[in-house]
Amino acid sequence: MTKLTDPVCRMGVFTPIFRSDYNGKEYVFCSMSCKLRFDKTPEKYVK
Ligand SMILES: [Zn+2]
Repeated sequence: MTKLTDPVCRMGVFTPIFRSDYNGKEYVFCSMSCKLRFDKTPEKYVK
């Protein structure tokens, strides 16, 4: 089982309710505010 990590705050995500796609990859977030931050500037969080 893959551990999912929020790319914004680096917290482990156990219930991936908040998701975004970027460059064909799926990212999960602990909260709506992390998702919104990612959606604004995804290149800041994806290397
Ligand atoms: Zn978060």
